[in-house]
Amino acid sequence: MIDTQDIEAFSPLKERLCLDFTNTADEHPSKPDAELLTSYVRLVEWSVYSDCISSEQGETLLLLAVQHPDKAEEALRFAITVRETLFRVLEAAADNRKPDTTDMRAFNEILAKAMSHLHMTPSINNFSWTCALDENDLETMIWPVIWSAAELMTSKDLHYLRECASEDCEWLFLDTSKNHSRRWCSMKECGNRSKARSHYQRARSS
Ligand SMILES: [Zn+2]
Repeated sequence: MIDTQDIEAFSPLKERLCLDFTNTADEHPSKPDAELLTSYVRLVEWSVYSDCISSEQGETLLLLAVQHPDKAEEALRFAITVRETLFRVLEAAADNRKPDTTDMRAFNEILAKAMSHLHMTPSINNFSWTCALDENDLETMIWPVIWSAAELMTSKDLHYLRECASEDCEWLFLDTSKNHSRRWCSMKECGNRSKARSHYQRARSS
């Protein structure tokens, strides 16, 4: 069983997959005390917690990571680079700005890769996109994240994309409140995390 307790404590929101992913850091670029993805193991734990991959797929990936530690480290670095690009693109959208050209080019390159993992799945009277997972690919969780971003970016929900109003929190969320007046990622969680961070900083400076 994959232990997801740490993930739940840091990043419990469960909005859209792409937003959950950008919310694995409180600030961008992230600082060590505001970063959830500090190891490949954490990336797998997050992927299981977010229902991006199954627990069994997570276990297979962890075994693969033990066999190929360098490649796992590379996959983690790739995931963080993707996350930072994704954050900048989505933050611009939340701010009603056009994203930076370089970021958009990088996003489109990643999107092309993600799309090569897409399949059309039929049901009784319709079809839907599914992102195929491959537990022999250490980067497999990235593709559904990117596809989730592409879906959000082309949907009406993008109008409700917001960045947390707290000074030291850059979490993204969809404001689906009745009056569209939500300003914080989560009153409870955002406050708790700020407190945890100032505690960490005090402990470090003393
Ligand atoms: Zn917040």
